[in-house]
Amino acid sequence: MVVILLGPPGVGKGTQGRLLVGALGWERLVTGELLREARRQGTELGKKAQAYMDAGDLVPDDVIVALVKEWLAGIPGEIGVVFDGFPRTAPQADALSRSLPEVGRSVDGVVVLEAPDDVLVKRIAGRRSCARCGRAYNVHYDPPQREETCDACGVLLDQRKDDTPATVRHRLDVYREMTEPLIAYYESGLAPVLRVDGNRPQEVVREAVWQTLVEELEVG
Ligand code: AMP
Repeated sequence: MVVILLGPPGVGKGTQGRLLVGALGWERLVTGELLREARRQGTELGKKAQAYMDAGDLVPDDVIVALVKEWLAGIPGEIGVVFDGFPRTAPQADALSRSLPEVGRSVDGVVVLEAPDDVLVKRIAGRRSCARCGRAYNVHYDPPQREETCDACGVLLDQRKDDTPATVRHRLDVYREMTEPLIAYYESGLAPVLRVDGNRPQEVVREAVWQTLVEELEVG
């Protein structure tokens, strides 16, 4: 099985993807995470991606497609996969449609999470994380006990460089222009598109995503 999680930045793809693969024992490809890891390690890929990411622009398609193909080749065919943050452009979606049959797969469903822009900006601009233990916080919804400080480690929390309000607005524009049209691409008969309202508590969204996948794709 191959499920694509589609939706604007901050809508909860990461959280829902993590819950989903946890429940199903699938694998999750998060292109943004792979790129951030490459940057931390200072690899060629990381260096190539850096300026695009900091500006909230998309990393070139050829770089992303190579990354995804390499990842996909390492996952045994019987294990389901969830794509989070990929595909993000028409060329990426085309490349995916061409390369999945090479590994005996096709896209089984596209889950689209949606929420209003002002909610997304507030959510993303509030995101913080601890560089030491990795715990995620949100200054609006899940704040640490002491301002900007990790409860467990006592170190100052980090904010992603591309999580500032101005860059978030730009990332939303990029999403609307480059990624949102993929909904129509898949709706044109390529795969079932399942829309879920992401502007609800995490647990409610989790239940709705699960319900949709069970009903429409008979997962689980
Ligand atoms: P994310 O964590 O998914 O918001 O991704 C962070 C940044 O990584 C994006 O703003 C892009 O610069 C880059 N990125 C992640 N996935 C892709 C992709 N599929 N295509 C192009 N750029 C990507």
